[in-house]
Amino acid sequence: MRKQIIIGNWKMFKTNSEAKQFMEKAEKGFKTRPDLIAGVAVSATLLNTVKSSSKNLIVSAQNVHFEQSGAFTGEVSIPMLKDVNVSYALVGHSERREYFNETDTTINKKVKALLAANMTPVLCCGESLETFEKGKTIDFVKSQLVSDFAEVSAEDASKVIVAYEPIWAIGTGKVATPQIAQNVCKAVRDIIADLYDQATADKVVIQYGGSVKPDNVKEIMSQPDIDGALVGGASLEVESFLALLV
Ligand code: PGA
Repeated sequence: MRKQIIIGNWKMFKTNSEAKQFMEKAEKGFKTRPDLIAGVAVSATLLNTVKSSSKNLIVSAQNVHFEQSGAFTGEVSIPMLKDVNVSYALVGHSERREYFNETDTTINKKVKALLAANMTPVLCCGESLETFEKGKTIDFVKSQLVSDFAEVSAEDASKVIVAYEPIWAIGTGKVATPQIAQNVCKAVRDIIADLYDQATADKVVIQYGGSVKPDNVKEIMSQPDIDGALVGGASLEVESFLALLV
């Protein structure tokens, strides 16, 4: 049985004191369940604070560099994440792809580096409105995943969390219908089955992201191939974050 994994993506929001307050309330309010993993993906300056304040919630970085160290001004390495006991990192979020020129080649390097370090990549994929309107979503997501999983073994692939996030649904309030989300998440599983085998694909946790809110999370997550959610806006307030975890 796959676990449900819900991650709040704080993007470039919150100071350390705001993050600490959030975590205190969130840990108090979080009702743990054996089938649910929940947590937040935070900016680099918050990782230590949030990790130190976490008990049952998991903590993820929003980005990582694939090299262990070096002259890469502004970047954060895997050993730096390990140093603060963080074992998850978002990789290839559409905002990183769009505004910071991340390509599937670098995303693939990050996925491989994280897996080699026994960390969990939350690999984001998803199409633009134009691609969606042309009916090319699945072809596009396939091209992303084929590159992103290049040279990753089946065993490692089964540990990757894939987040399908249609760009047109991110921060727009335009949530994909549960049927659209399910169709693409099923296609993601089929693509992984083609790359590896069905047993591997069946292990992969697939999240949907894009305008997930407390009032639509249940219906989205009730779809057979959607195991979780990556949530931006609705994860910033602790009450709303906790309301996602029901
Ligand atoms: P949103 O963002 O929930 O605000 O649409 C999702 C994301 O970018 O991960």
